[in-house]
Amino acid sequence: MNVETLVTTFESSFDVVGVISSARYTEEAARRGRHVPEPPYPTMVVVGLAYPKRTIRQTEDHLVPSFYTFGSDYHVVLQNRIRSVMDATGLAYEAGVDNHPHDERLAAILAGLGSMGKNQLVISDTYGSYVFLGIVFVDVLLEREHVLEVTGDCGDCTRCIDACPTSALFEDGFMIDRCLSATNQLKRPVTDLEMDVNHVLFGCDICQMVCPRNIGIVKKTHPEFELSGKEQIAVDDLFTLSNSAFKARYAGMSYLWKGKTVLMRNAVMLIARHGYVNHVPRIEASMTDDRPAWYLDTARRALEKLKRSA
Ligand code: SF4
Ligand code: SF4
Repeated sequence: MNVETLVTTFESSFDVVGVISSARYTEEAARRGRHVPEPPYPTMVVVGLAYPKRTIRQTEDHLVPSFYTFGSDYHVVLQNRIRSVMDATGLAYEAGVDNHPHDERLAAILAGLGSMGKNQLVISDTYGSYVFLGIVFVDVLLEREHVLEVTGDCGDCTRCIDACPTSALFEDGFMIDRCLSATNQLKRPVTDLEMDVNHVLFGCDICQMVCPRNIGIVKKTHPEFELSGKEQIAVDDLFTLSNSAFKARYAGMSYLWKGKTVLMRNAVMLIARHGYVNHVPRIEASMTDDRPAWYLDTARRALEKLKRSA
């Protein structure tokens, strides 16, 4: 196996592919003061699969998550594609998509898949920031790397920093504990600011939507990311179906990852923010003793807000 063959094999299933040595990745991680586990194999393939920006309107009865969740769960989609590529090579490998201890974004930058935006996302010259990333450690020693050329950068732009509703972004950094995309997945009470500015059921698209580097890019919709109808979540389903019935109805969607109560908590924030008072009885009925304290706290504050606005 040489580097050209490895790249061509992966290019049959991915939009962008770079290959770097695992040693260079660990050296660069150490130089930046980041701890990453010892790679299991000497070669690292970094893959990107594009997804499209799509907008679906939220209504009083149907709430909508970030558009990166539209279509099938990207963790599963990328793992399936990696498996089918690697099974054909016969080489041993270990793959990771998002939920792993390695620094995927550092690997993507080193492999030339894009440059790091001030919104903390890897931005490809061709697909903007609308690219899912994955890494594959492969049991093969190669004579050289395959690093793509990147020309774009943020320059003097600060649009994402200015638009971030929680001031999570800075010219030279990021506070993840302020980022809605991270915090609205956490099982904890929300802050007053989060109650006021949380605007989707799961995630947050603002710093991608305002980015000029996402204008004029190539738009691709792979078959797995076609809309399935599960991108709009019925408030009625959230509050009346059991956990297992809800999971069955919305099977295959990445927003299920943190469980239904997280989605209910986020729904409660949206209901309060938009003054959807018709849902007050649903929220009241959901406040049973078996609910976690962080849910009950948000529900109680949302009801107070709704009653003030009624
Ligand atoms: S995802 Fe939202 S909250 Fe997080 S940095 Fe971007 S704009 Fe700010
Ligand atoms: S909005 Fe501007 S500063 Fe932010 S990532 Fe895009 S180009 Fe960079």
